[in-house]
Amino acid sequence: FRLLGEKGIPTHFVELVGEREMLVRAVEIIPVEVVVRNIAAGSLAKRLGMEEGTELPRAVVEFYYKSDALGDPMVNEDHIAVLGLATPEELGIMKRLALAVNEILRDYLAQRNLILVDFKLEFGRHHGEVILADEISPDTCRFWDARTKEKLDKDRFRRDLGGVEEAYREVWSRLVG
Ligand code: UDP
Repeated sequence: FRLLGEKGIPTHFVELVGEREMLVRAVEIIPVEVVVRNIAAGSLAKRLGMEEGTELPRAVVEFYYKSDALGDPMVNEDHIAVLGLATPEELGIMKRLALAVNEILRDYLAQRNLILVDFKLEFGRHHGEVILADEISPDTCRFWDARTKEKLDKDRFRRDLGGVEEAYREVWSRLVG
């Protein structure tokens, strides 16, 4: 969040409080998950019949309605408007910020031999402004080792691959040295 803030992305981050907590600005969460993808994986690979690992010619943005009862269905701009989840203006800001975050994180991670396959962001309203909120972690992103393509994210848990903690520690050590 600090890196993104330095690069001009408005975020909820204020400061770290110890190793496992951060002080943040309170927001009203917008119930739309924004997913950005650089490489086909997970639900996109399945839905479109693409082989996992296929590089996409451009970044793909998807929206999901945050609803446990409905199982977080994928929605488009029209669905979001008729449900009143976000205004078209807010959605435009979210999409623009999500693509900017993608550029920043992709470069930052590439320098640390990590491929940013895809990730999910959440945004919130803070004094009328749309800002980036929630978390960014191996729970919400797919990170692959640039050389071996080894998965270093929650897929290790989801797909029962083992080595979950080791993978998270590896990401941590590449990020903070
Ligand atoms: N994701 C997330 N929370 C969710 C759903 C997805 O953080 O509730 C992230 C996931 O970690 C991945 C990206 O969004 O980095 C795309 O996920 P996908 O649609 O492929 O679904 P999945 O295979 O994770 O079920």
